Amino acid sequence: MQHDDPRIQLALDRAAEARGLAYAPYSGFHMGAAVVTDRGTVVPGALVENVSLGLAMCAERVALFAGVASDAGRPEVLALVARLTSGSLTWPCGACLQVAMELGGPDLVIAASNGKRLQVARLGDLAPNLPHKPGQARPG
Ligand SMILES: [Zn+2]
Repeated sequence: MQHDDPRIQLALDRAAEARGLAYAPYSGFHMGAAVVTDRGTVVPGALVENVSLGLAMCAERVALFAGVASDAGRPEVLALVARLTSGSLTWPCGACLQVAMELGGPDLVIAASNGKRLQVARLGDLAPNLPHKPGQARPG
């Protein structure tokens, strides 16, 4: 996976910015995300928590859904910036991967970073057995 794709840096920069806007008074786990679409549009998302904890929404899905709501185009890159989890980079959760599969398909590029380290993977390689839309290429 190419790390020098300029779309990845674009998404990471915007995700880092959105991370600063995360509403995380309960976990303190500030997460920001951003999507770059096939039109070159960058759509940010931030974690939004709630006192009713199950209502929290991940930064990645906020960005993916905002892309739909703003007619931004098909997601091609999804970046997530958060602190490490048990010493490893934090990757999108299963729910976010499933939404990303629906909207971006298996070739969507996912970039996970804590602001220093970076890992990049194709969605279909990261999660080869996710359910996919009828007619969509098999993920793996
Ligand atoms: Zn998630």
